[in-house]
Amino acid sequence: MRLLVALAIVSTGACGLSAQSNRVAGPADLIVHPGVVYTVADAAPRAEAVAVAGDRLIYVGSDAGALALRGPATRVIDAGGRAVLPGLHDAHGHVLGLGEQLQELDLRGTASLAEVTAKLAERARTAAPDAWIVGRGWDQNDWPVKAWPSRTALDAAAGGRRVWLTRIDGHAGVASTRALQEAGLSAASVDPAGGRIIRDASGAPDGVLVDRAMDAVTRLIPPPTDAEIESTLLRADAELQRLGLTTVHDAGIDERVAAAYQRLVESGRLRTRVYAMLRLPLARLRPFLAAGPVIDLHERLSIRAIKIVADGALGSRGAALLEPYADEPGTSGFLTTPEADIYALTRAAAEAGFQTCVHAIGDRANRIVMDTFARVEREVPGARALRNRNEHAQILDAAEIPRFAALGVIASMQPTHATSDMPWVPARIGPARTAEGAYVWQKLRQAGARLASGSDFPVEQPNPLLGFYAAITRQAPDGTPPGGWAPDQRLTRDEALRSFTLDAAYAAHQEARSGSLEAGKLADFVILSRDIMQAPPRDILTTTVLMTISGGQVTHDTLTAASTVR
Ligand SMILES: [Zn+2]
Repeated sequence: MRLLVALAIVSTGACGLSAQSNRVAGPADLIVHPGVVYTVADAAPRAEAVAVAGDRLIYVGSDAGALALRGPATRVIDAGGRAVLPGLHDAHGHVLGLGEQLQELDLRGTASLAEVTAKLAERARTAAPDAWIVGRGWDQNDWPVKAWPSRTALDAAAGGRRVWLTRIDGHAGVASTRALQEAGLSAASVDPAGGRIIRDASGAPDGVLVDRAMDAVTRLIPPPTDAEIESTLLRADAELQRLGLTTVHDAGIDERVAAAYQRLVESGRLRTRVYAMLRLPLARLRPFLAAGPVIDLHERLSIRAIKIVADGALGSRGAALLEPYADEPGTSGFLTTPEADIYALTRAAAEAGFQTCVHAIGDRANRIVMDTFARVEREVPGARALRNRNEHAQILDAAEIPRFAALGVIASMQPTHATSDMPWVPARIGPARTAEGAYVWQKLRQAGARLASGSDFPVEQPNPLLGFYAAITRQAPDGTPPGGWAPDQRLTRDEALRSFTLDAAYAAHQEARSGSLEAGKLADFVILSRDIMQAPPRDILTTTVLMTISGGQVTHDTLTAASTVR
């Protein structure tokens, strides 16, 4: 069996050895009490305290029971009666993208060109003369003067450096004069097909490049070095620990990121547990499939899934629909991967013991994905046990809803996508399709599907408490619409918590050691500033993670001494 071979080659480091050991009575290394502990374990859903030895929970129960495990070296943390939850999982995020967003010059929300250039000038002060300064997020529609920014404004602020600042939607960017010159752009340049060069009165490029015209500059920006990829992943890792996300499913990595993750895990530098999906064409996927899945490397990294993108997005009418768009009857969207390739990739993955995770937004893409999963399940023995996943599952024809449970397919969904999209979805697909199958978490659940929740960060914010709020309210942070959008599709708090913990762990084959607080499981948990299982929904938006514990180690702490923050 390939799976057994793969398990044998997975390194078992110091922390790997404890994987199967159900630690017995203390003394504990760490006791956290008194708290309102939401365990997400059916047998005992509430507790007062937890005790940890090494990287495992050895006790979850009463205060007295935990304190009985106290020894001379036990650290005791006073939770002050606060809510303690299992470490949160994000079942669909983009870790490198989050790190890049945190490192790049962040221009979201800038209210004027002057604010953009002030931020640029500040960054330029510490940038090497030959460095590229890259930023993102400006939107001239938010400025008092709604004109395109010009290269001369950048030149003055950046002291003649190479600058590239992408507009918020990614469909335009503004370059400094030096960047334009090095790209070979001049008054003589013609607009490329599918792109446009914004020009000054003399016809010379003025800085802004639209769509395909952007390529001339972006191809000059050097790809990151291995060390830069590592530091970008670690920048995201710190943010994820701050937000209480102890496990993240990285929805699309390539060879270099896979290698960077392995180096970070082997050297003990990555604190977030990463469940990664390879997003590669079949030829580049083959070596990974031949080597077999990487399963729980040091209990921090698994590479046993592939990612396919079946269609586009609803916002740009790229999602593949069975019937035309309601607000543009001439189009029904498109597949971004041909159906034959979706099948070939899924089948190759299944034969190699890899799970397949497919981005599917429109009802046509969703039908094709479910048809493909059904076919591969028939053709490849054991394929069902891979727990194939439908990522997004946004717009479903009613016929698809029961197929999730029937095929054992995970519905991997993002509550904040629903609340971001709800203002325009009914116009785009019409009221009938919206009511039938748009972001229908509760219909899926009631049909027996397992829901894994995530955020799709950095598209949405990574904070899982915002997702929890969206899941239980189907409201925007401002509380609209009153009562929530299609409120019968809201999740209860228990259902939402399960989708961000135990069921996300199931989607990653990790429910036996993660996702709930039970003796023998990994000591991954968080202490919150408020009890999100009881608080008024609006208060969840300002709730923070006071402490994150991953494998028994404190990785984020604003509760006790600042000295414990790494
Ligand atoms: Zn995504």
